[in-house]
Amino acid sequence: MIRLTSLFFLVSFFSFSYAQNFQIDSIQLKKVYETVLTNGDVYENLRSLCKDVGHRLSGSNGAAKAVQWGKIVLERYNLDKVWLQEVMVPHWVRGDIERLDFISNGTIYNTNCTALGGSIGTNGGVLSGNVVEITSWKQMEELGEKDLSGKLVFLNRPMNPSYITTFHAYGNCVEQRHQGAAQAAKYGAKGVIVRSMTLKFDNNPHTGSMSYNDSLPKIPAVAISTVDAHNLSKLLKKDPNLIAKMKLECKTLPDTLSYNVIGEIIGSEYPEKVIVVGGHLDSWDIGEGAHDDGAGVVHSIEVMSLFKNLGIKPKHTIRCILYMNEENGNRGGKTYASFVKKSGEQHLMAIESDRGGFSPRGFSVDGSDSQLAVIQAFERLFEPYQLHIFQKGYGGVDIGPLRDGKICLVGLVPDSQRYFDYHHAPTDVFENVNKRELELGSAALTSIIYLIDKYGFQQTGFNQ
Ligand SMILES: [Zn+2]
Repeated sequence: MIRLTSLFFLVSFFSFSYAQNFQIDSIQLKKVYETVLTNGDVYENLRSLCKDVGHRLSGSNGAAKAVQWGKIVLERYNLDKVWLQEVMVPHWVRGDIERLDFISNGTIYNTNCTALGGSIGTNGGVLSGNVVEITSWKQMEELGEKDLSGKLVFLNRPMNPSYITTFHAYGNCVEQRHQGAAQAAKYGAKGVIVRSMTLKFDNNPHTGSMSYNDSLPKIPAVAISTVDAHNLSKLLKKDPNLIAKMKLECKTLPDTLSYNVIGEIIGSEYPEKVIVVGGHLDSWDIGEGAHDDGAGVVHSIEVMSLFKNLGIKPKHTIRCILYMNEENGNRGGKTYASFVKKSGEQHLMAIESDRGGFSPRGFSVDGSDSQLAVIQAFERLFEPYQLHIFQKGYGGVDIGPLRDGKICLVGLVPDSQRYFDYHHAPTDVFENVNKRELELGSAALTSIIYLIDKYGFQQTGFNQ
């Protein structure tokens, strides 16, 4: 009887504590959302990053300017500490000339192209040759050296539109861009032309990283738009002997010193335990890197701003990291992870925003089942804000090197339908980011960080 009574009290205590916490947290989340939607800095910060700094590829003047920009903006929020962490980054430059012409039956088709990041140039000359269209590695292997040697290989496999999450379509196709030159070089090809990684049918070529195989010759690689890929495929069917002429001036210079930009609010109870929020400061050198990843940068800054403005004193240290060099090396993410390893600092969670400034839909959790259960227990609090994805999944590139079996890595998951319309393209500009959608992203990040900071992963206090 005594036992039953204590059980009754225990259950009532937890129910009471759950209901009370739920109410307090609902009010806090509402404040976060209202503040950012009525009085947030996130949109203006994105405008400034895109228009005052512009694109900012690792090693460029734009990237150096972005580091100073990030430091100045973070310093505005009276954080406990703002500092720069040295990172050596690759330095690839596009050069002034990018030219691609197709010549068929005396007609010259000048085609808009963009070199892939890391590609070699054409050595001051013009690369010319016949073009062979490929839509699978198997087909490439079957054609082999006899059909591909001395040719330009045209990789024209489209992203699969049947996936609901466009990141899956990208993930299943991007090897074409990343490994195309190395694969084609195996069979003696002298260049590659890659269909842009987008589901949109338009005239914009999309750049992105690529890699070489050091034991094979390096050959130049460009991307063309989906419309041009469609037209080239049609033209090749009519005239398999058409000639491509390519001229590129891109090259890789020696590594350059750059920085991760870091700002933090020191925890009131556990200053030695850290929660990271971040996005990457570098971008490709076309467009303004507005969605990729200006959005993640200003989202993360806004988390700090909201903690300060709302007077939320975190128990753990909240650290905002604007990573350098996600796009072509991930040196910033690796440098930060090795700093953590050396310092022995304990990290509870790292959360990343690098999927654009679109309406947030939830979080993907790269952590243990119990960490996932803790995050899933918060789902009801996010119902009014229409977040419903609380599932296992990928965290992000920058936070990836922190994985140690203990830390919980989390990715903010926005709606993905339009991300690849702009990704790595000249259209990834401020004007293509919606103010409210961007703001909602910072509110979602701030809310989940507030909750994890308050409850930790020990499942005390909140779970029913
Ligand atoms: Zn990115």
